[in-house]
Amino acid sequence: MIIQLKQHISPETQHNIEHYLQQQGYQVSRVKTQFQHYLILLGKVKHDIRKIGSLDGVADIHYVDDAYQLVSRMWKTSRSYIDLGNDIKIGENHFNIMAGPCSIEHEEQVIEIADFLVKNGIKIMRGGVFKPRTSPYAYRGGGIDSLKMFSRVCKDRGLKLITEVMESSQIDAMLPYVDIFQVGTRNAQNYNLLDALGKNDKAVMLKRGMSSTIEELLQAAEYVFSSGNEKIILCERGIRTFEKAYRNTFDLNAIAILKDKSHLPVIADPSHGIGIRKYVEQMALASIISGADGIIIEMHPIPEKALSDGQQTLNFFEMEQLINKTNKLTALGLSF
Ligand code: PEP
Ligand code: MN
Repeated sequence: MIIQLKQHISPETQHNIEHYLQQQGYQVSRVKTQFQHYLILLGKVKHDIRKIGSLDGVADIHYVDDAYQLVSRMWKTSRSYIDLGNDIKIGENHFNIMAGPCSIEHEEQVIEIADFLVKNGIKIMRGGVFKPRTSPYAYRGGGIDSLKMFSRVCKDRGLKLITEVMESSQIDAMLPYVDIFQVGTRNAQNYNLLDALGKNDKAVMLKRGMSSTIEELLQAAEYVFSSGNEKIILCERGIRTFEKAYRNTFDLNAIAILKDKSHLPVIADPSHGIGIRKYVEQMALASIISGADGIIIEMHPIPEKALSDGQQTLNFFEMEQLINKTNKLTALGLSF
């Protein structure tokens, strides 16, 4: 059960509510986000909720039957969207393409891609500076200096920036340069990192763990929300299965189900989802029909020379084709 508290509730009134609920046998957890105060009640207690609703300081009360609470659509039936400023919003009816290289390499590369994005009406640029790589000898990113350069190029052009954070100790140094923190598939259940990202006001995009269930992804989002940050985006990026014909199994089912179960925006990552350049366009378009609120695409001026993930990276021509087709599809106004 979720209790929304009144905006300017006094500590004493809140304490009285909590005390009353504990006496009724509930386990009570406090959640204070950048937008609201909530109490999460656990425990199977038979109780007349009208009594709770009439307590001083209670704004609203909701039954949630799901294992997760605050990210569930059972209490928030409308859709959440994230406002990044400068009229750039993600979710609800605001469709976005996020695009850029897998890894930030050097300034010329970043400028070339950023200019392409601006020219094509794309408002959010991706690029990794801390890269989780399977082999320790592979390119692991340019770190904070790369991020500063990346941020400068984006700010000069009014682009928003999304990049991966790998551990909580990196957050403070990254904070001034990042618009959206990406949590990678390998960190999907790093609960310390999720908790730490909940303690600031920057948007967080959670990629689904490569072996996470839909419920585990939603519980990861619940960590961020319950630790104080409501600005969460979910991302389907493919899961591990027995199939070897492609890199991951891109789970379009998950997109439809996430949109139904949660009020959070859902972004699809067909680049990692299928992992093969020539199929990325088809899977991107399929993910839009599945209900995605946006797509994140890897692109590079010369994918064959990219320092990471070149095999799934689009060149400028391919990206332009995808943008044109995406625009046609989103103009249909499909809404799920
Ligand atoms: C990436 O976006 O480049 C990346 C490493 O993603 P994932 O964590 O989904 O593999
Ligand atoms: Mn990548």
